[in-house]
Amino acid sequence: MKRNTGQDRSITSRWRPATQAVRGGTARSEYGETSEALFLTSGYAYDCAGDAAARFAGEQAGMTYSRLQNPTVEMLEQRIALMEGAEACRATASGMAAMTAALLCQLEAGDHVVAGRALFGSCRWLTDTLLPKFGIATTIVDARDAQAFADATTDKTKLYFFETPANPTMDIVDLQAVCDIARARGVTTVVDNAFATPALQRPMEFGADVVAYSATKMMDGQGRVLAGAVCGSEDFILNTLLPFTRNTGPTLSAFNAWVVLKGLETLDLRIRRQSENALAVGRFLEGRVPRINHPGLPSHPQHALAMAQMAMTGPIFSFEVDGGRAQAHALLDALELVDISNNIGDSRSLMTHPASTTHASVSEDKRLEMGIREGTLRLNVGLEDPADVIDDLDQALRRAGL
Ligand SMILES: *Cc1c(COP(=O)(O)O)cnc(C)c1O
Repeated sequence: MKRNTGQDRSITSRWRPATQAVRGGTARSEYGETSEALFLTSGYAYDCAGDAAARFAGEQAGMTYSRLQNPTVEMLEQRIALMEGAEACRATASGMAAMTAALLCQLEAGDHVVAGRALFGSCRWLTDTLLPKFGIATTIVDARDAQAFADATTDKTKLYFFETPANPTMDIVDLQAVCDIARARGVTTVVDNAFATPALQRPMEFGADVVAYSATKMMDGQGRVLAGAVCGSEDFILNTLLPFTRNTGPTLSAFNAWVVLKGLETLDLRIRRQSENALAVGRFLEGRVPRINHPGLPSHPQHALAMAQMAMTGPIFSFEVDGGRAQAHALLDALELVDISNNIGDSRSLMTHPASTTHASVSEDKRLEMGIREGTLRLNVGLEDPADVIDDLDQALRRAGL
């Protein structure tokens, strides 16, 4: 095929990230289309029975069934791997499919996991409810303290699992320190990088082994489809993750992969603008609310660490009101532009009350241990003019008595 450089890693790995996000992994069909083709097919036909047998035996390159491979999904996997600086990537049907697969594919009864306290609600369900059912013990630590991982490690510890920035408290985990501790102890690190994406933070540069994504968030970026991805070494993806995903089937649909491919083309632009907008909105709120958790503001206790390991701090932050759930709900109900919605990474500004939505299934004492109070609100700042978002928050704060 002519000039199909998107598939040539010796070329694409030299490209800068914004170029990789537009062109990396592109495989052109015989028609030479410029935009990635959408292959909506569940199966593939063979020229002869011998070819089918050879493909199943792994002796012939090619696809056999879309639970296992699909050309559109493969383009997305190659693009994400490239942007992440990972040897390999596999896409999944959702972020939770990615997290579940990344954990279960390498754990077994008797293993021990150390996980950060502030995790996406369903990730806490995995660590607190699902893993123990299969005889896998978990210790939850305050991940802002890297030494806590070392202190919780036993001879059974197989894996560290955390996200940074963490949802919704905006805790920052010191990637270099925690990955060094893991390496020294032979422990695998699994980092949920959904908030930052490879456009802002690349955990593998600090020594992370596995990076997992909800691509539903910034990667799609326009609130359209669910998707996920797991990145790692070729050995991990082929020999540990693939046997699990091929046989359990958390496969991403080709259509959703195509939508995320289109999303990645504008990721760099969107995440930079949304980071700037979130900083402008954060600066406005800082003087108006009792507490704000925004890693881009010098008032955040881990501001220096965030700036050292991230290019920018992203569209999401949280803040607190003193009047508990009643005042938090009153503020949400007074919004005219910002939507009440628990999604994040969208080009629209969205606000939610974690204690009654995303973290409602977590018990109140666990929420407090995670740093989520009744007055905590989480905001995703979109691509609107930030002055309009600020005007909306200003009038809503006033109506809620702030
Ligand atoms: C949304 C999210 C998930 C789950 O992803 P889905 O695509 O909704 O399944 C996991 N981790 C983090 C940090 C998230 O924000």
